[in-house]
Amino acid sequence: MAELGNPKNTIAVLQKYQFNFQKKYGQNFLISPDILEEIIEAAQITKDDFVLEIGPGIGTMTQYLCEAAGAVVAVEIDTNLIPILKDTLSEYNNVEVLNEDILKVDIAKLAEKKNGGKPIKVVANLPYYITTPIIMGLFESHVPIDSITIMVQKEVADRMKEGPGSKEYGALSLAVQYYAEPEIVVNVPPSCFMPQPKVGSAVIRLTRHEKPPVFAKSEKLLFQVIRASFNQRRKTLANGLSNFGAFSLKKEELQECIMELGVPANIRGEALSLEQFAKLSNIIYDRQQERNSSQRTE
Ligand code: SAM
Repeated sequence: MAELGNPKNTIAVLQKYQFNFQKKYGQNFLISPDILEEIIEAAQITKDDFVLEIGPGIGTMTQYLCEAAGAVVAVEIDTNLIPILKDTLSEYNNVEVLNEDILKVDIAKLAEKKNGGKPIKVVANLPYYITTPIIMGLFESHVPIDSITIMVQKEVADRMKEGPGSKEYGALSLAVQYYAEPEIVVNVPPSCFMPQPKVGSAVIRLTRHEKPPVFAKSEKLLFQVIRASFNQRRKTLANGLSNFGAFSLKKEELQECIMELGVPANIRGEALSLEQFAKLSNIIYDRQQERNSSQRTE
């Protein structure tokens, strides 16, 4: 039975193994059965699901996942936690623990091998120091994903939902909204963790769009344009794009592309919506194509 969410049981396991928390791994273990149940409910897991858990810790949420899902793979970087997980997950035969760094795991290959390439669900109380690379990695590597239900820093959860005009709006907001529908499930205070983090947290569910809400001729170019625009937030969009160095157009040509979009040439990137970014990337794409074909015929 899932029972580690009870703080007394967590303390007993930590003492039994004389476990020392490693700050560098962002270790804040959940000790709230109510929040654990909300996460499982929000993730809508059934016995047909294959779940990837990132950072199982001592296996608190893993126990809940094993009870709800068909199969679970949990990837944990801290070798000291592996014998503990062996113990706390001993009654479940549908879980595999991998002692690896999630940023080095080929998740698409894992999903192919374990779930025949069918969409997987990702559930995690994430280590906050690598939230953005984990999320971007899941989306950009085209892992077949149904949904991602994760605990993140509250501020990061808010950022994923923001639009133009907010100072929190940035590359992460646009990437998340391009790939998925973000929804904040519940805000979680520091008292729900051991040890308590200094920041507030929130559970957010990202449900993958069947089709992105905007059309980009090249996804790679769209994300280059987005990164270039927010790399130098205080600069104009034209300067940001021309300083980025990834486009084969001169600054004046990039300015023309911006004007073709129907916005002032001195606009800043943070003022553009996802739809405008997609249009701008398509204009740049066409210009670059024209340039390449005229160079070939010269
Ligand atoms: N899931 C547990 C819970 O809710 O109590 C632990 C969550 S704790 C916030 C984050 C976990 O991720 C820790 O167990 C930590 O060791 C692990 N972790 C940190 N960096 C990791 C990485 N690069 N790859 C895999 N796991 C990592």
